[in-house]
Amino acid sequence: MRLERQGSLFATFSLGKLKVTALSDGYADMRITTLKGMDGALAPPTFLTEAGLTGEKLRLDVNAFLIGTPDGNLLIDNGSGDAWHSTAGRLHDALDEAGIARNDVGAVAITHTHVDHINGLVMTSLKPAFPSASAVYVPEKEIKLFAAESRLARVSGLVRPLKDGQMIGEYVTAEAAYGHEIGHTAFLVESDADRLLVWGDIIHAPAVQFAHPEITWEFDADQDAARSTRLKVLGRTAREQLPVAGAHLAFPGIGHVKLSAEGYAYLPLS
Ligand SMILES: [Zn+2]
Repeated sequence: MRLERQGSLFATFSLGKLKVTALSDGYADMRITTLKGMDGALAPPTFLTEAGLTGEKLRLDVNAFLIGTPDGNLLIDNGSGDAWHSTAGRLHDALDEAGIARNDVGAVAITHTHVDHINGLVMTSLKPAFPSASAVYVPEKEIKLFAAESRLARVSGLVRPLKDGQMIGEYVTAEAAYGHEIGHTAFLVESDADRLLVWGDIIHAPAVQFAHPEITWEFDADQDAARSTRLKVLGRTAREQLPVAGAHLAFPGIGHVKLSAEGYAYLPLS
């Protein structure tokens, strides 16, 4: 992958025949106690001090990724719209800055149904944000969770259930990565010899969880499954030297996972 173009809210990389654009939705300041230790207790303070997290807040960057293919643009996740922190919800501004019209989004896929991944599907008026999108791919285990989101009613007709292993077009394959949510799904993007794993919420706090992948997140629906999926995915991406794109890695959120003396380390793609 190679960086082609960058602004304050977007960065476009080439990947084989494709263009991958990281889009910043902004950030949210979370309580440090959102991190949980192995037994569900609060994360030991030593982890936080080692990671330089001495303040009261843990900053969570929020990213989405647009996969530009010869067959059209697929948006993976879509930020929080106006439904969450006032410091987030900037995805539509990021698209503007990148010169990509909302009308040029041909389809949307979501990694899971949490507020920071789905609410950018609608505008403040609740009208669809991506008027030309022909489908919203939702992991099949989360179809009910999606349907419960009444503010997304205007896009419910576009929902297509997504199974583990299913392809979206020619270049993107859904891969089950359950744990953080019951249907949490990653997307493997492949073109020629280039690959990228858009991994959603495998990591929430990069400064802590690469070195200590056993640490979980309060909002993991299943803490044990989230932990074992994280360990599996970190192992695989390090072993295969498979670049990753993370919803909560520091913007633009694309880089490599390496084995380190203590667990894993993250090397952003510069
Ligand atoms: Zn998230």
